[in-house]
Amino acid sequence: MDRILKGSIDSFIENTRHKHRGSQTVGEYHPSHIPYCMRRVWYDFKIGREFPIEVKRKMEAGKVIHSWMDGVFKSDGKITVLETEITKERGIGGLKFKGTCDFIVEADGQKAIIDIKSTSWLKSQIEKGQDLKDHHITQVMVYSWMFDIPTAYLLYIDRSDLTTSCHKVEFDKNEFEGILRRTTTLDAHLTENTLPEAEGKLDKDRNWECKNCPYSVECENNKMEVKE
Ligand code: SF4
Repeated sequence: MDRILKGSIDSFIENTRHKHRGSQTVGEYHPSHIPYCMRRVWYDFKIGREFPIEVKRKMEAGKVIHSWMDGVFKSDGKITVLETEITKERGIGGLKFKGTCDFIVEADGQKAIIDIKSTSWLKSQIEKGQDLKDHHITQVMVYSWMFDIPTAYLLYIDRSDLTTSCHKVEFDKNEFEGILRRTTTLDAHLTENTLPEAEGKLDKDRNWECKNCPYSVECENNKMEVKE
């Protein structure tokens, strides 16, 4: 029985596809494509390799936290959940963004987007004052534009003990224009089939991105022939 139980969980996780991986179409970008190592995202479009099981486990744990937060919001009379897990598309300048926003809520007469980030590092990062991450700000700002809701909150939750931290992110036109420029660059690399720089390796603040990268071998060899 114990092996059957464990096997069921492992095979469920193994067979789960990350939500934006089913539709990797050039010209159509998920908010999470934009801030990460551009070369990795390029390989993701060209190869679309699955994440390792360790990463998938964390993603599934994140889904559990999302469901739990839904219950938390609904049990608290001060916050009204207007919508959950809403998928939307919006185009601009020949690019299309497509993504699923965690929650749209209303409190104190104000509508806001809530993006939940489940982590394993929250407490240590709160101590250093580094829990708010730029790559998450980028993602949530795209959601603000897509849903036309200028106020968003990044709600970080530690998977180990449900410690939380919360940050308000207001839509910023200049920052969004930078996001559009970066997306245009990614789009050009994909349509012209040119390999982007290995940003994860080149910038020491981004080295963490290489840790679980499924394309490290291709990246090391600057590989362009990517048919699997
Ligand atoms: S190994 Fe690092 S630099 Fe190379 S594609 Fe992956 S994340 Fe980017």
